[in-house]
Amino acid sequence: MTNYQPVAYLDNAATTPMPDEVLTTVTNYYQFQKVNVHRGMYGLAHQVTSQYEAVREQVKNFIHATNSAEIVFTSGTTDSLNMVAAGYARQVLQPGDEIMVSLMEHHSNLVPWQQVAQQTGAQLKYLNVTVDGQIDIKQLRQQLTDHTKIVALTLVSNVLGTKLELAPVAELVHQHGGILVADAAQVAGHLPIDVQALGADFLAFSGHKMFGPTGIGVLYGRQSLLEQLRPVRFGGEMIQEVTQQDATWQPLPLRLEAGTPNIAGVLGLGAAVNYLQRLGFTAIQAHEQKLMRRLMAGLQSHFPIQIYGSQVAGDHHGAVSFNFKQIHAHDVATILDAANVAVRAGQMCAAPLMQALQTDSVVRASISAATTSAEVDRFLAALDQVEGLLL
Ligand code: PMP
Repeated sequence: MTNYQPVAYLDNAATTPMPDEVLTTVTNYYQFQKVNVHRGMYGLAHQVTSQYEAVREQVKNFIHATNSAEIVFTSGTTDSLNMVAAGYARQVLQPGDEIMVSLMEHHSNLVPWQQVAQQTGAQLKYLNVTVDGQIDIKQLRQQLTDHTKIVALTLVSNVLGTKLELAPVAELVHQHGGILVADAAQVAGHLPIDVQALGADFLAFSGHKMFGPTGIGVLYGRQSLLEQLRPVRFGGEMIQEVTQQDATWQPLPLRLEAGTPNIAGVLGLGAAVNYLQRLGFTAIQAHEQKLMRRLMAGLQSHFPIQIYGSQVAGDHHGAVSFNFKQIHAHDVATILDAANVAVRAGQMCAAPLMQALQTDSVVRASISAATTSAEVDRFLAALDQVEGLLL
């Protein structure tokens, strides 16, 4: 496992550590197997290509997609969402159409929609965030129209840690003829994902937040929709035939994976999926919930702080954000850093949410299956020093 010592690492929502089996898979590829995929006519190239494609199959099963053509390897959630915005939404949106997001979206699930709204004349609409960190389904019902072509929502908030119930949302969106895009960046390492049960039409996540390497991610798309997604990158591997003036594309998913892919990243992602499946999401949840109860009870009983969103530990999936009433978030993080405790402080790539919470920044502590109770205790002990500043 990535060794952060002497640091107590409570920034797992930014990125998680990598277990030994993921580290070994990545180094093995670079040390003994570094060939390209989908091209070589020799044994090792065939072997690595089948390992690469086996990960696609593994990811398909991991998120319950119907077939592996629906799994596109990307560089991460940001890349996946940009592909949907530039390759799909840009084609289908017309002036007067609507895109709906919530006020708690990460900039990755917001700025691409702003851009596509500006390019197509569609309107970007917002759903409020309730005090307990949910969207208001009544507001959604009122605001949805037959012009709402895309609803793009996070499945778990990277700031508030709350999980949105997207299945009923998908049902409503579909009744109006729209599609649901789910940002699952904060889910993949914590909770099982079932794209069928969710009713998600597109879903994005990153390997590095689920114990895999950086630079690898997944775009899931319902096959009929992925067929409509125009490639936004052109070049080797994605073409079928090239003439002087034109070209035709490979079938899915290769036509959306131009150029040499992140092969080590894909293999590492496969190892991360194995790791998660071996631990099991029931055990992961039990561990995280135990730590979150300890963390939130510590925060709530000792400190003059405000916790944003739900006050119930069970509602927090990995992350909790807070502020001391009289100390700026950056000062809190700096004091914690001096005690070798790593947390995040700032606007968390969620500026509209900060405005809604009436703050410019928050402190975020975030855990994963790899976090220990000793790390949580060191965090709480270091917060005592922050509180000391108030005396
Ligand atoms: N969405 C959410 C909810 C996130 O937490 C993050 C990462 N902080 C992203 C999108 C973007 O992920 P990446 O930087 O891996 O592309």
